[in-house]
Amino acid sequence: MRYVYMFHEGRGDMKELLGGKGANLAEMTNLGLPVPPGFIITTAACKEYYRQGRRLPAGLEDEVRDKLQVLEERMGRRFGDPAHPLLVSVRSGAPVSMPGMMDTVLNLGLNDETVAGLARITGDMRFALDCYRRFFQMFGNVVLGVPYDRFEEILERHKEQRGIRLDHELTAEDWREIIAAYKGVVPEFPSDPMEQLFMAIRAVFDSWFNDRAVVYRRVHKIPEDLGTAVNVQVMVFGNLDEKSGTGVAFTRNPATGENRLYGEYLLNAQGEDVVAGIRTPRPLEDLAREMPDVYQQFEEICRTLERHYREMQDVEFTIERGKLYVLQTRKGKRTAEASVKIAVDMVHEGLITREEALLRVEAEQVGNLLHRRIDPRAEVEVIARGLPASPGAAVGEVVFDADTAEKLGQGGRQVILVRTETTPDDIHGIVAAQGVLTSRGGMTSHAAVVARGMGKPCVCGCEAVRIDPFHGRFYVGDLVVKAGDTISIDGSTGRVIKGAVPLVDPELTPEFRELLSWADQVRTMEVRANADTPADAAKALEFGAEGIGLCRTEHMFMGPDRLPVMQAIILAETPEERNAALARLLPLQEEDFYAILKTMAGLPVTIRLLDPPLHEFLPDSETLTAEITELRCRGGGDELAAKEELLRKVRALKEFNPMLGHRGCRLGITYPEIYAMQARAIFQATVRLIREGYAVAPEIEIPLVADAAELGILREVVSDVARQVHRESGVPFSFTVGTMIELPRACLLADEIAREASFFSFGTNDLTQTTLGISRDDAQGRFIPVYVERKILPEDPFIVLDRRGVGRLIRMAVELGRAARPELVVGICGEHGGDPESIAFCHEVGMDYVSCSPYRVPVARLAAAQARLRSARPAAARRVA
Ligand code: PEP
Ligand code: MG
Repeated sequence: MRYVYMFHEGRGDMKELLGGKGANLAEMTNLGLPVPPGFIITTAACKEYYRQGRRLPAGLEDEVRDKLQVLEERMGRRFGDPAHPLLVSVRSGAPVSMPGMMDTVLNLGLNDETVAGLARITGDMRFALDCYRRFFQMFGNVVLGVPYDRFEEILERHKEQRGIRLDHELTAEDWREIIAAYKGVVPEFPSDPMEQLFMAIRAVFDSWFNDRAVVYRRVHKIPEDLGTAVNVQVMVFGNLDEKSGTGVAFTRNPATGENRLYGEYLLNAQGEDVVAGIRTPRPLEDLAREMPDVYQQFEEICRTLERHYREMQDVEFTIERGKLYVLQTRKGKRTAEASVKIAVDMVHEGLITREEALLRVEAEQVGNLLHRRIDPRAEVEVIARGLPASPGAAVGEVVFDADTAEKLGQGGRQVILVRTETTPDDIHGIVAAQGVLTSRGGMTSHAAVVARGMGKPCVCGCEAVRIDPFHGRFYVGDLVVKAGDTISIDGSTGRVIKGAVPLVDPELTPEFRELLSWADQVRTMEVRANADTPADAAKALEFGAEGIGLCRTEHMFMGPDRLPVMQAIILAETPEERNAALARLLPLQEEDFYAILKTMAGLPVTIRLLDPPLHEFLPDSETLTAEITELRCRGGGDELAAKEELLRKVRALKEFNPMLGHRGCRLGITYPEIYAMQARAIFQATVRLIREGYAVAPEIEIPLVADAAELGILREVVSDVARQVHRESGVPFSFTVGTMIELPRACLLADEIAREASFFSFGTNDLTQTTLGISRDDAQGRFIPVYVERKILPEDPFIVLDRRGVGRLIRMAVELGRAARPELVVGICGEHGGDPESIAFCHEVGMDYVSCSPYRVPVARLAAAQARLRSARPAAARRVA
């Protein structure tokens, strides 16, 4: 087994073995770019390390020594040589990019002897000592676990004693004293460079399981068993002098996608200074002025990389005494907006095909493009401006630490995480927050990168904000903002705003529209929306919905003009009383259906008849009891009698388990007049629209069916009404009757049910609840996270369809249903209809459409196209007529 590869021995397609960083270093070396030489210890070595209980695999050490010798020969320096010391960096590099989550050690190989050699080679003792103390801090912290603050304290104390404010004012003698004090903190510091190297390699392996890496993998769904590679590379120094520096650049703007080099750099600095956000870096344009030759060479390299990878790159570089080196390239993380623009632009530039563009944009991520923005007409009080690091607007309470953000966020509160610096340790807080605000750090600082990856709004480098975390407040000039105060941030412009601002709905950009039009040409499943109002229906159409897959009718019984009528229906003692109340509801319902059907102008509309249990329309018994007590105290009267009657009914309708109770088609069976009224309202609206020239054919849907007999009875109720309306109006119209499939029994008996149904629509919210026997509202905040963490379930089954269980039932139901009725139309309307992974499953089982909330429609259009491109199913899949 071979565990170590020189850069020139690897290739870009060996990411799994060499990690992303290693594979790209190999690829760049072979492209002839100026990459400092080095070697890669493979992920296989990391896996073996863990398999053997955290022991380096046999043979690894010898391989490392051999490759180190190759480096020594190439550089004409020796590792640990007091006269001509070779120094290396040791960096992690997983197969999937996890920026900053794992460990890095720079300047490795320094000790009391080699530091003198470094001073001699560079002619700069102060520089050599600065490297040494950096190495001490990094090695001490990363490898030996000494808190970083211990070093900072010593440094600060020394500066105070010497009356110095800035690091660069410290002399060589100062650094010597500081290093001596560091040694007191870390007596176990190894001076043997070889020992340092192997300790650092182990530390990188160990960092695969540090807390932040584990959280990052969970959030980004990265498998635990990939392991990390270790890159050992000859050091080049960005902190040597003012002709040296280090920076990070994106080949296109990662926030907007604009095709222009975009980056930041610091002179006289090492890489960690840029990435950690400790100093705010300068924009790359300044480099064009300061070192035009270097800038030009860098621009050329970036062009080469983009052409080679046919993808936007995120490039790290170092300049040592005016000579440019590339230290890393990887696929650049970008916002959803940039992702769409870059993919579409690259098609127009002839770099990639439309299919590639469709597959490059993450369907889940484009949900972010539909984020709300600050209402441009709103008067807002801008208190500060920072860098627009990740677009979108967020409103929330100020919190100053990640733990509090997590606690409040999990409790359902909206928070903005406000930090001086953005460090990878804040990740759980970023996950829980609506947005992030930092007072230091650039556009490539860590939380900025992480926030962009998650699609969270972020404003960073907002220097006007002075944070006092100990008193839980920040200042902007004289203004004090305390923990718990509400602020808004605008990650698209960098504005920080006092108080809550009104947000407005997003619009689709021209590039996004173009991408979606390509998706529409590719996908074979139709995309519909779940919409209950004309406004929702209009929004759905705007986002490209091709119909309504679920129009829930229950909200139509709410509202001040309807609820009392609905209550009268429920309280009615006789059919006459009930019919009288229903007659009052009929015209209102007819107007509802008229408006929605008209908005959809002939596109398919599936209208579901009443589903929830009746008690949802009545007040709760506690409120009623309190009101009755008060009325009794005041002497009673008619109102008291009415309330008592209502309470009696509420108690009579109380169910122990309403989810499994008197709801869905069971209501239709026991109160057919309710369904009949709804059917009449639908048909009367249909007749009116047909008279007006619309081609309307409603799809009437019966919920919660467990047996074909239920559907048979209710289908007759509906058909009876249709015949009556036809007779009364003389207008012929067509309609279909189908069912929701929401119960395991319905899946088991799908062939029987299909004989009564024109369509199946999988209500996977209920089907997931009833298949797992888990009530969603009771489970999501409680044990589901534990189940996911302990890997009992791969995901929350209410978000991503449970393929193994619920999916098996669905597959069976589709097959049984189609066998009994080949023309059966099949779709999904549960929440899963807007989730890309679940949509891929729907494609696999041959559904005709997915239906989701209007805002998810663009996501679903793209996901349906991707499902088609990724699946082996031929293009000849059926479409709804
Ligand atoms: C479902 O159960 O998946 C469904 C769409 O119905 P509801 O969410 O209204 O119960
Ligand atoms: Mg349901």
